[in-house]
Amino acid sequence: MLTRLAPTPSGFLHMGNACNFLVTWAYSRARGGRVLLRVDDADPNMVHPEGIADIYDTITWLGIDIDRQLPSQQSRYGRYWSAIDELTVAAHVYACDCTRSQIRAASPDGRYSGTCRDRGLAVDAPGVSLRCRVDDGYGDPVVGGKNRIPAYHIASICDDVDAGVTHVIRGDDLAEASAVQMQIARRAPSLASFCATSIIHHPLLLGQNGQKLSKSVQSTTLRSLRSEGLSRAAVVEAAITLADPQTGQYLAERISTRT
Ligand SMILES: [Zn+2]
Repeated sequence: MLTRLAPTPSGFLHMGNACNFLVTWAYSRARGGRVLLRVDDADPNMVHPEGIADIYDTITWLGIDIDRQLPSQQSRYGRYWSAIDELTVAAHVYACDCTRSQIRAASPDGRYSGTCRDRGLAVDAPGVSLRCRVDDGYGDPVVGGKNRIPAYHIASICDDVDAGVTHVIRGDDLAEASAVQMQIARRAPSLASFCATSIIHHPLLLGQNGQKLSKSVQSTTLRSLRSEGLSRAAVVEAAITLADPQTGQYLAERISTRT
C-alpha cells in the first residue's frame, strides 16, 4: 500500500488539511503501508514560499513520518505534456477560448457547458486552454492551461501513476474531482492504471457535537490556532472522527504514545 499527502502550497494550512494528513498517514501505516509527500506546486502562480515551509512545519508538529518526497511538479512538465499529447492524439482534447465570465454566464453552476467542443479551434493557438472531452455531466476539465501550465488533474494523475500510489485518501469535497480524474485517466494509455487506484473519501471535519465546524475555526490557519494553544492531541481527536475504525485506533494509540 502506498498513499500520499498532496497539499497545495498556496497559503497556510487549516485544521481540515491537518486532519487529512493524519487520516491518510494512519490509514496506510495501520496497514503496513508507505506514505509519500507531494507538494502540489505545478502552477508557480499558486506557490506561496511560506506555504511550503508551513507544510513541513505541520508535518513535523503532527509527528508524521514520510518515506519519500516526490520532486517538484515544475520539474515534470515534460511528462505532463506527454500525457496531454496522448489525449490530444486520440482526439479527446479540444481547445477552448472561453473566459471565466463566459463560462459562468453559460452555466450557473460553474461547470463548463461544452461551448467549444465542436468549434474546432486549433489546439496550438496562443491563449487557448485545452479541455478533455469526458462523459456528460463532468464539465470537460481543463488539462492544459492558457498559460501552458499543465492543469492540476493531469499533474496529480501522472504523479500518482508514476509513483505507484495505490490509495488516495481525500475529503468528501473532492469526490467529484476523483470521478473526473477517472474519466481522464481511462482515455490515456499511460494513465490508465490510475483507474485501479482505491480512492477513499473521508467526511469533512465536524465540530465536537457533530455540527459543522464553525466558520471561525474553518477559516483560521492551523498556525494561528497553535499559537492560541491548540494541542496536537486535539487535532488527532478531530482526525479520529473522520477515520474508519482501524485507522482511528491507530491514531488513538498515537495520542497516548506521542503526546
Ligand atoms: Zn470554451
